[in-house]
Amino acid sequence: MQTYSNYIAGEWSPSVSGKTKEIINPATQEVVGSAPVSTAEDLDAAVQAASEARVAWAKLSGAARGDYLYKVANLIESRLDEIAQAMTEEMGKTFPEAKGETARGVAILRYYAGEGMRKVGDVIPSTDNEAFMFTKRVPLGVVGIITPWNFPVAIPIWKMAPALIYGNTIIIKPASETAITAAKVIDCFHEAGLPKGVVNMVTGPGSVIGDGIVNHPGIMGISFTGSDVVGRGIAKGAVARGAKFQLEMGGKNPVIIAADADLDKAVEGTISGAFRSTGQKCTATSRVLVHSSIKEAFADKLLSAMEEIKIGNGMEDGVWMGPCSSEGQMETVLSYIEKGKEEGAKLIYGGNRLAGSEYDKGFYVEPTIFDEVDSKMQIAQEEIFGPVIALITFDDIEEAFELANDTPFGLSASIYTENIGAMLQFIDNVDAGLVRINAETAGVELQAPFGGMKQSSSHSREQGEAAIEFYTSIKTVFVKG
Ligand code: NDP
Repeated sequence: MQTYSNYIAGEWSPSVSGKTKEIINPATQEVVGSAPVSTAEDLDAAVQAASEARVAWAKLSGAARGDYLYKVANLIESRLDEIAQAMTEEMGKTFPEAKGETARGVAILRYYAGEGMRKVGDVIPSTDNEAFMFTKRVPLGVVGIITPWNFPVAIPIWKMAPALIYGNTIIIKPASETAITAAKVIDCFHEAGLPKGVVNMVTGPGSVIGDGIVNHPGIMGISFTGSDVVGRGIAKGAVARGAKFQLEMGGKNPVIIAADADLDKAVEGTISGAFRSTGQKCTATSRVLVHSSIKEAFADKLLSAMEEIKIGNGMEDGVWMGPCSSEGQMETVLSYIEKGKEEGAKLIYGGNRLAGSEYDKGFYVEPTIFDEVDSKMQIAQEEIFGPVIALITFDDIEEAFELANDTPFGLSASIYTENIGAMLQFIDNVDAGLVRINAETAGVELQAPFGGMKQSSSHSREQGEAAIEFYTSIKTVFVKG
């Protein structure tokens, strides 16, 4: 078993606490390795290193910073299987999905490497015809990045790559459950030879290192992805000291199956959206709104397609759905299943922890479907973050839009219909940052803005060109000869 370290000022080092925490494989309960349980002192050292590195890094040309990102991309690509295996072993996602995610990380790095050659300002005509006025985007300085366990490569990279290309130095605190995957990614930054202090990683509890990042006066910007409860606390802390912040949080994403939907495509999109990654995606489908006229036909097709889902250790060939990421996550999912039964929803598929042979070793829950769900039930309102969906019936399309919007979240929403009018109405009426037509709710393209409405985000966007808004400040320059 390997013990991993923090990465501060270009060096791998243990925490001053001397403590480490074991990380458990959710498919087998074997120990995968251990990572430092760091302290405020470790974080201070990282902030100092990032502060010392920031002026020289910001002075490099965007192209030179981009060259480093291309090198990191090539290194991750050359270690793709190793990194993906660490991900599967730490949080249970299937190996093919983990490889896909790691390849996504490579593509994101290459995209932002190219951004180093693109514009960072505009010329604006002055009312004084002897003056020259323009904007220039400048880095924030030191940025703190706090990430969850469900996309342990893609999310850190979609924050780190834009932060770096626009000239910031960074401290990342990865989720404690996926600190090993994070260490392997950071090792590629190390191997690429980035100047000391430009990238730093400190692992440890969110309540200490995450909270420390939020409250550290040396950190000018905080980018967070995770639960809405933690996100709201981060917003308060950041506002209190005037730091810039960006939050991406949960979802309760609906798919509408209209009366004229292609049912085979709708079933395929529902299953993929709801159960890939064991439902542990912020964009996962969790509410299925079905027109009453096709409800029986849709449910029949859905139930027979569910039989095809092969559940097991994500490293095994042919496995389509792995375990929940941890025992705690499994307990949360099982408690929501109990709540659903108590609330009077009708359990029509799954609903149990899987038992017997290899399942006894891991944290496996059956993919689960509740029917006859009322939109006000807890299972229809709260993010479960597991393989559970709620079927809700509607009679006309306006009612479907109301149901789609009837939660505090607004991340992703999809509709299956052949009717162009319904598509256009859906685009206008649904409160979601990602609007998807005849496609599953999950699915993000790295070159397009990503983020949610309502309580799903702080109303900023990540990825694509949108990332420049968070990772830079604008200076308006007025020059008179
Ligand atoms: P958490 O909010 O529990 O944790 C996210 C990160 O925040 C972790 O690194 C965690 O550290 C850290 N953290 C925990 N407590 C604090 C604190 N008090 N102050 C600062 N940081 C803290 O979320 P999960 O890791 O459980 O991730 C699942 C959640 O992420 C889901 O709700 C999901 O919807 C959301 N998510 C949102 C996405 C989006 O883009 N909208 C994408 C992916 C996931 P530690 O691990 O040590 O606890």
